Amino acid sequence: MPGLQHTFADRVRRRWLCPLCHLPMNDPVQITTCGHRFCDTCLQEFLSEGVFECPEDKLALDYAKIYPDEDMHEEIINTKVRCSHWTDGCYWVDKVTRLQDHLRTCKYTPVQCPNDCSALLTRLRLDDHLEHECSRRQCKCEFCGMRMSWERMEHHEGSCPQESVYCENKCGARMLRRFLSNHTLNECAKRTVPCPHCGKQFLYDTLP
Ligand SMILES: [Zn+2]
Ligand SMILES: [Zn+2]
Ligand SMILES: [Zn+2]
Ligand SMILES: [Zn+2]
Ligand SMILES: [Zn+2]
Ligand SMILES: [Zn+2]
Repeated sequence: MPGLQHTFADRVRRRWLCPLCHLPMNDPVQITTCGHRFCDTCLQEFLSEGVFECPEDKLALDYAKIYPDEDMHEEIINTKVRCSHWTDGCYWVDKVTRLQDHLRTCKYTPVQCPNDCSALLTRLRLDDHLEHECSRRQCKCEFCGMRMSWERMEHHEGSCPQESVYCENKCGARMLRRFLSNHTLNECAKRTVPCPHCGKQFLYDTLP
């Protein structure tokens, strides 16, 4: 990670800026021989290319002369920044050191739906999602009272044995779905039955 990419609420001092990434320094280190400072990672990356000189003045350097600058580190992390979601409307402002804690509870931080439906949403929208949208939300069948996920409910709807339905033969009878097959087979006036004489299928109520 290069320098800090936060949105600062306090004034950013010019001397905090890393000459390599031009951001306020993250874990600043100082080359004690020349006094130049850089982010730890920025300087490491620069030196990893095999040049052992200060990126600013090209003076030769050795690792023994590079020290963490604790004072500047303290100064920077005690500066106030805005929440990373301030453009979404979060008004939180506090020290850099408190930001991670805040983001864990910020209502604008996207979170996974606790039902594992794979939706990613802000805490602000989560309640609404769980109540109305989540494909794994629990709901209750209005006919049999069974609780199940919304996904299962889609299949259950239209087949619940406790739902009151009209006979599909349009005989006018209405009953719970669980009585329907017995009705259409044995009771319905509009069921088809074979004629006892010729064997052809007739509607029951047209037979003499
Ligand atoms: Zn840097
Ligand atoms: Zn230097
Ligand atoms: Zn926030
Ligand atoms: Zn969900
Ligand atoms: Zn049901
Ligand atoms: Zn019927």
